[in-house]
Amino acid sequence: MQVKMCPKCGSLHVNWIIGGIMGYIYKCEDCEYTGPFILEVDSSDAEKFQEEIRKSREEE
Ligand SMILES: [Zn+2]
Repeated sequence: MQVKMCPKCGSLHVNWIIGGIMGYIYKCEDCEYTGPFILEVDSSDAEKFQEEIRKSREEE
């Protein structure tokens, strides 16, 4: 099963909004991210991706 993940914080609480000619825009419930890009990962890989996002944020 594929799940949608916020590319910024790794949250799975992502909603999509259809923005007319703008196409799909996604909005994260857990951070300020809003945009057309979202990660789609297998649910069994979700934790691994969240760990990667957490690590890359700590390096900033
Ligand atoms: Zn987020």
